[in-house]
Amino acid sequence: MGDVDTLQAALDARFGQGRARREVPLASLSTFRVGGPADLFFEPATGQELVDSVKIARAHGVPLHVLGGGSNVLIHDTGLRGLVVRPRGGTVTPIGDTLVRVDAAVTINGLVRHTIARGLAGLEAWAGTPGTVGGAVYGNAHWQRQNIGDLVESVRLVSRDGALLQVPADRMEFAYDTSRLKRTGEIVVWAAFRVTPGASPDALRATARASLAFRKRTQPLDTPSAGCIFMNPDPVHDRVPDGMPCSAGALVDRAGLKGTAIGGAQVSATHANFIVNTGHATATDVAALVDRCRVAVADQFGVQLHEEIVRLGF
Ligand SMILES: Cc1cc2nc3c(=O)[nH]c(=O)nc-3n(C[C@H](O)[C@H](O)[C@H](O)COP(=O)(O)OP(=O)(O)OC[C@H]3O[C@@H](n4cnc5c(N)ncnc54)[C@H](O)[C@@H]3O)c2cc1C
Repeated sequence: MGDVDTLQAALDARFGQGRARREVPLASLSTFRVGGPADLFFEPATGQELVDSVKIARAHGVPLHVLGGGSNVLIHDTGLRGLVVRPRGGTVTPIGDTLVRVDAAVTINGLVRHTIARGLAGLEAWAGTPGTVGGAVYGNAHWQRQNIGDLVESVRLVSRDGALLQVPADRMEFAYDTSRLKRTGEIVVWAAFRVTPGASPDALRATARASLAFRKRTQPLDTPSAGCIFMNPDPVHDRVPDGMPCSAGALVDRAGLKGTAIGGAQVSATHANFIVNTGHATATDVAALVDRCRVAVADQFGVQLHEEIVRLGF
């Protein structure tokens, strides 16, 4: 593994002293509020800074991790070795009437607010989805049987060796909870979303409010979590027995695990596919509880649950 000191010197030379920082705690940058520090941490403010930081990390042979809003990750208690890049800022730019180009660091909520205010329909139901465009494209975020990839026209990516490429949606390998980025490690610089102009902002706002209200009713939003822990099983591929729900939360619930706790991690009483941090959880507590849920569902129902959250540093 390359040397973090020489990497820092190279980042300082390119971006100026103080931009890349050592031993930065990551727990507060993850919605779970768990995890240790990054050896080295850098927040690119532009696409070019993102590309250059990827190239510099590559040239120094140092591991590179990408963090968006931290709303779907479980970061190890010992933190992350090498460089963590967390794109920040960014803008939403119209391209003609029916596309918006959105930088990776823009939050989904920011994007929703932007399109609603301009009467651009398509993204309003995604109101309340935590995280950034980069993270949403990576995991093809879903909401009520829709995948965000269905709204994507193309994505600008940087490969792990620093090459830029533009990929149309049909080559993004979007499927339930996944995209080609899980295979390639490519990083989102921006994504272009299709929108329909001419909608009434009030009507779009009403849809957004309905999504927010539904989330408030069904999710434990007042306690730190990373959203759903497991993907919903596929009835055929995952051999869900007849009469069993194809819902990971319902299976965890039927296994009797609602409310079960390990250390400060607890299976939410509101939504059994959420694990919440009741105050002093560690990543080790969360990981142990995830494993307990997985084993219980496999033992009782023969269904193998797969994780939706991304473990970093494990
Ligand atoms: C209360 C709550 C409710 C949620 N509801 C939903 C929901 O309805 N639907 C849903 O799908 N998810 C939901 N989630 C999970 C989460 O919001 C989404 O997965 C979100 O898209 C993650 O984005 P992020 O920016 O936070 O990604 P992070 O958590 O920061 O990262 C997730 C993964 O994406 C990668 N990544 C981040 N940025 C980039 C980038 N620029 N390029 C390449 N890879 C990148 C990271 O390396 C990591 O592997 C919920 C989470 C919470 C806490």
